[in-house]
Amino acid sequence: MMHAWEVARPGPIEQEPLRFVERPVPVPRADQLLVRVRACGVCRTDLHVAEGDLPVRLAGVTPGHEVVGEVVGTGSDVRGYVPGDRVGIAWLRRTDGTCAYCLRGAENLCPASEYTGWDAHGGYAEYTTVPAAFAYPLPGGVDDVTLAPLLCAGIIGYRALRRASLPPGGRLGLYGFGGSAHLCAQVALAQGARVHVMTRGEAARRLALELGCDSARGAYEPPPEPLDSAILFAPVGDLVPVALRALDRGGVLSVAGIHLTDTPPLRYETELFYEKELRSVTSNTREDGREFLALAARHGVRATTHTYPLARARDALRDLKAGRFDGAAVLVNDLVNDLPARH
Ligand SMILES: [Zn+2]
Ligand SMILES: [Zn+2]
Repeated sequence: MMHAWEVARPGPIEQEPLRFVERPVPVPRADQLLVRVRACGVCRTDLHVAEGDLPVRLAGVTPGHEVVGEVVGTGSDVRGYVPGDRVGIAWLRRTDGTCAYCLRGAENLCPASEYTGWDAHGGYAEYTTVPAAFAYPLPGGVDDVTLAPLLCAGIIGYRALRRASLPPGGRLGLYGFGGSAHLCAQVALAQGARVHVMTRGEAARRLALELGCDSARGAYEPPPEPLDSAILFAPVGDLVPVALRALDRGGVLSVAGIHLTDTPPLRYETELFYEKELRSVTSNTREDGREFLALAARHGVRATTHTYPLARARDALRDLKAGRFDGAAVLVNDLVNDLPARH
């Protein structure tokens, strides 16, 4: 048996939608790896799953899709992995590989796609499974906790950066500065961009400046110069027109979140004219993931992390919602010593 969190009744995190349970250790299917979870990042999407912002796709699902773990078993069809290998598990879990989107290299748009911690049990547990074709081999030399947030926050931030079409040496605005944005900023800075951060949290603004960003201001304040590109990381639709107004002519705004509150009406003259573009970002392809992990290793991209024992996942989600930390929260599987009192 193993311990795992499950979303028992989706609702506001204050009403404790998550329950800590015991379940049998999963058995990997023929194409899957069985992975002992060593660390699992806490993503805002986990909060959306727990709170019911995303519809239920698997009742009682275990959230968590930023998993760093160790292969402890392989299905009969798996080649290329052996027990002891360190792997990462990310949000995109399965695609059909046969639809028009998959065939043109846009597997992130596959209508049959499945996601870790939404369609299938994820990493808020001692063990989990992943189709081998969707696991990422991880390099050595970086610890589990530092790597975990790269697997969603990092990869999605990277896709959002690509979708924002930032020109070389360009001016980039980041709205919101949590787990994803602070990794994206490091890649953009390493590639020579000027980066301006607009966010409400004082600690986040401090972190932005420490990482080398050129300015850090309040979420609704204008940046010090017009932007070639902007990325909206905060799930706040009210910021869409704010960010569009901050763009220079021909600028692009990409919206990184899977969930966004409604946007107010847009004013064509000030917010869209002069060929400004508004783009969404939907998941990522495995190619995005491999590219980002390689870039992250090359440029030494590091997540600023705050660890919680697995048994305190609920606190991590509460703190995420309240914006109580900068960077990213990571659950560490240390259950032997840290069971909750009620258990
Ligand atoms: Zn497909
Ligand atoms: Zn995520």
